[in-house]
Amino acid sequence: MKKFLNEFKEFAMKGNMIDMSIGVVIGAAFGKIITGLTDCIITPLIALIINAIFHVESTDQLFSSIVVGPFPVGQLISTVIDFLITAMVLFAIVKAINEIQTLGHKEAEEEAAPTTKVCPYCKSEIAIDAVKCPHCTSDVE
Ligand SMILES: [Zn+2]
Repeated sequence: MKKFLNEFKEFAMKGNMIDMSIGVVIGAAFGKIITGLTDCIITPLIALIINAIFHVESTDQLFSSIVVGPFPVGQLISTVIDFLITAMVLFAIVKAINEIQTLGHKEAEEEAAPTTKVCPYCKSEIAIDAVKCPHCTSDVE
């Protein structure tokens, strides 16, 4: 959980607005799918589980009672599950973006690896694997 928070903080601090927008848009899209999923599968499943525990006569009656009320617990449970799944999906997206960014940074660092060195005698920039300076003809390591 601490790692999660740190990574999120890092993302929130370093991530630019485009990354964030992508995350939010994908999250919203996933949110709709997840809402559909919970409405179609998880809520009826909760009804079935409750039915199995309490042996209610009619599953339809129970289902409608937990979804529409008088105490729409099903709605609340669905919303909580929606939130949890959406948060997990968002975190996965955030993590993926973080990894892509880290990869990008690593590549940039590798590209920035020195290809030249400075001649200790004339201070000219010479090839990293040069053994003789082309400027002052000194022997270099
Ligand atoms: Zn030199």
